[in-house]
Amino acid sequence: MKRLAFSMLTAVALSSWSINAPITKTTFVGESTTEPFLKTARAEPSAKFRSLPEDIMIRVKLIPQQAQRYDTEGDWQWHGDTLEIRLSKEVIEDDPRYGIVLLTHELVEAILCRSRGITDRQVDAFDMAFKGEGEPGDDPAAPYHSEHEAAQAAERALAVALNVDWRSYLGE
Ligand SMILES: [Zn+2]
Repeated sequence: MKRLAFSMLTAVALSSWSINAPITKTTFVGESTTEPFLKTARAEPSAKFRSLPEDIMIRVKLIPQQAQRYDTEGDWQWHGDTLEIRLSKEVIEDDPRYGIVLLTHELVEAILCRSRGITDRQVDAFDMAFKGEGEPGDDPAAPYHSEHEAAQAAERALAVALNVDWRSYLGE
């Protein structure tokens, strides 16, 4: 789950997130910025690994921000062996690359949680009760904190590869 500060965005319908929208933000995020995230991710224990099902279906939906289950721009739920990821279309509308970066976060987080026996119910319960600032997953008390951190490392690496300015992406 990922919460961005996208309150300034206007809600205009988007037919597809793979359209050739103009790329306007090309600020390069240097490796020095990425490194602490990678270190954090590497430092986390990975003892509780469970194999994933042999046949996984991944469905990605773009929905209006208002249609999200709670205050988030990225959401995921497992339905059996089908993973449904719902991204706020306003994020993709702002920059199509953001959609790929955000999708990576959700995908990595969902797969890691699944492989470590953390259910979406546990994650949902924490996220929906969260009253603090920033992202629920940043809270060390989150049941999926280390999975969120690893997802953020992958997300950030992809942002670098796509020349996405990290702070603009976060809406800061
Ligand atoms: Zn997260």
